[in-house]
Amino acid sequence: MDRFGSNDHPRRKKHVVAFLRDITERKRAEKKIQELAFTDNLTGLFNRNYLEKLVADIEPDNQHHLAVVVIDVDNFKLINDTQGHLEGDRLLCKISKDIERFASAQIVAFRLGGDEFALVINGLPADIQQAEAETLQLAESIRKSIESVVVTSDIQFQISASIGIAINLTTETSYEGLLKKADIALYEAKESGRNRCFLFRSHMQQKLERQVKLETGLHSALAHNELMPYLQPQFDKSLRLTGAELLLRWQHPEYGIVSPAEFIPIAEETRSIIAIELWVIEYACQLLNAWHSTPETQQLQLAINISVVHFEQTGFIESLESILSNYVFDRKLLKLELTETVALVNPEKAIARMHLLKEKGLGISMDDFGIGHASLNYLRDLPIDQLKIDKSFIDRLTSDTKVKDVVNCIITLAKALGMQIIAEGVETQEQKTILESLGCDLYQGYLFSPAVPLIEFQRFIQENSAVKH
Ligand code: C2E
Ligand code: CA
Ligand code: CA
Repeated sequence: MDRFGSNDHPRRKKHVVAFLRDITERKRAEKKIQELAFTDNLTGLFNRNYLEKLVADIEPDNQHHLAVVVIDVDNFKLINDTQGHLEGDRLLCKISKDIERFASAQIVAFRLGGDEFALVINGLPADIQQAEAETLQLAESIRKSIESVVVTSDIQFQISASIGIAINLTTETSYEGLLKKADIALYEAKESGRNRCFLFRSHMQQKLERQVKLETGLHSALAHNELMPYLQPQFDKSLRLTGAELLLRWQHPEYGIVSPAEFIPIAEETRSIIAIELWVIEYACQLLNAWHSTPETQQLQLAINISVVHFEQTGFIESLESILSNYVFDRKLLKLELTETVALVNPEKAIARMHLLKEKGLGISMDDFGIGHASLNYLRDLPIDQLKIDKSFIDRLTSDTKVKDVVNCIITLAKALGMQIIAEGVETQEQKTILESLGCDLYQGYLFSPAVPLIEFQRFIQENSAVKH
């Protein structure tokens, strides 16, 4: 058998002796064409077409396992984009050599396309644990052989690869099925930090299916009234209610309540966050308008989260203004929570935009402060009313005196700049006491209440007015 698995058939030869030379040439040409059809131009490895053929041609047997190992270069796009395609191609050729070194009679190497490579390993033991152990060991060796550092004149690149593995008995193997499973395992390897090897497990498939269902369902979630605004109350140091943060929940028809920590990143990726947040803005305005009409609620603030994707969208301020213009409440009671990432890419533009929002009379709160990239220095340039100290600081406040010092420093500086300070994720009385001693103005957290539906939030309003009167 040649390397493409085609046998010369003896019977055919008998009839064509006279044209042997012609046929040999034709066969050579055919073989050449076939070789081209099954070879990757850049690296000379086999391509995806051949992977399909190879898996289809394997004789099914119960005694052996077959593995597909998918190898994806981490951050290849970054290298390609910053160093140019030539450099990118050179790197792919180098990696293809790293991978090809592991090829043997039972192990075939492929380039599937782009920065994705694969190995098919045939003849693995019938014992699945042994088959998995052997494949993982090989995959680990490949991963290590790819791991390297490339130094260019201006940047240093860490080269690594993530690897996904799927193993089946040859009797239950389909090309698509195996490749799909290996891809799912690869996705998990990337998700959990890259530069690692993962074997396919069935729970990964469920996770991926959930992700896909959330992605497709999100488009119609608004129209189907599945998104629900919850309110988490905020208090001053004497526990007077000062307002709330609006936090979304998704009542999913199949999964029940889905956390925004799971669906907001998907909404950002698919950009449906823009429609969702415009709807949140409208809802917040209606609520503030309703609160405006009674003395007990007239002073309550409402904070909403604005994603950087939305903040940077052209027309963001215009659409905000066109919603606001229908309402009469005092605009400073609507607080837009922005994270430090808004000022990451283009700080000047972001600061100019924040100034515009301020000119429109809105309140601006800097969310998750301290974990991002904003330094205390540039706080001066930001037109913000409120600084929200991130939960990770509050968590360590009682156990780490250095954290207490940092929080003290943040509060002192922010106060000097005329900002209000709010602490989020306050869970214990001890945390509240320390924060109070450091001069923190407002508090939000499970110590007081989680985010609740509006109907339950009314209780805080009633309790508050009972205290006052
Ligand atoms: P975030 O803005 O930092 O919101 C605070 C999160 O911490 C909320 O989680 C809240 O329920 C939770 N939390 C509050 N107090 C405590 C506490 O004492 N202990 C603990 N362990 N957690 C506490 P949630 O509601 O799951 O929201 C997660 C994130 O989803 C939010 O983080 C926010 O970034 C995002 N999000 C929610 N709604 C929206 C929205 O309308 N637009 C955008 N862009 N993001 C949203
Ligand atoms: Ca927030
Ligand atoms: Ca936050």
